[in-house]
Amino acid sequence: MILFFLAFAAFFFVALLVLISTIGITLASLVTLFSAPAQFRRILRDRQLRRNHALEHATINVIEERYGPSRLAGLADHDGFTIQGGATPDLVASATQEALDRLRAGERKLAIHPRCGTSLIAAQLVLAIVFLATVVLLHQLSWIAFAAGLLAAIVLGPRLSLILQRFITTDARIGDLSITSVEVTRPVGKMGLFSMVVLGPICVHTAQGSGPATRKRTEPRAKPVQGDVTLITGDREEIPAGGYRVR
Ligand SMILES: [Zn+2]
Repeated sequence: MILFFLAFAAFFFVALLVLISTIGITLASLVTLFSAPAQFRRILRDRQLRRNHALEHATINVIEERYGPSRLAGLADHDGFTIQGGATPDLVASATQEALDRLRAGERKLAIHPRCGTSLIAAQLVLAIVFLATVVLLHQLSWIAFAAGLLAAIVLGPRLSLILQRFITTDARIGDLSITSVEVTRPVGKMGLFSMVVLGPICVHTAQGSGPATRKRTEPRAKPVQGDVTLITGDREEIPAGGYRVR
């Protein structure tokens, strides 16, 4: 009797959890439906950010080509990108250089990565649109609308992500983008000996040459020489590393 009661309670708890998380995911997706256009407009206006995002994906793709699937995560901004998840600075430096060369040679596929944050936005957009469409079609809010939204997000989300990455969130035509430095940052909250064992995020700083597309918008910078990449360790030590100058 007690076992039966426990099983029923567990089932009820799981069902409640599924219900709450489904409603939560749907609400978050509806918010994304309204916030995404502004986000996409901001990304579209910053070509250097889109190029850095392409280079970040390409770098992780190159590392995964060499060593198989990884748990690396990247984040791009206007001035470069960071790679987190345990890759060493010399690996990131050499993979970024290879990624840059291959993108420049026209290998646009490298700029697309399935684990990109765009995939979450794509799944939420599909979910919200299908959910709203089903509610309108059925003239009522029923579990069918939630289920249809979730199913569509799982099936169509990854496809939409590829399209959004290709045309909005990355730009594989990287032009004269180049690496200026690769920096190891200290892991947040880890000090002393521990920070020597756990690598912090690795920041790859990039710069755009004086190309016509960005000449007006970016500050004039020292034009980096190809292959002359400075590696900066968290402890500001000098370590020899192949062809790279390490500071
Ligand atoms: Zn991404």
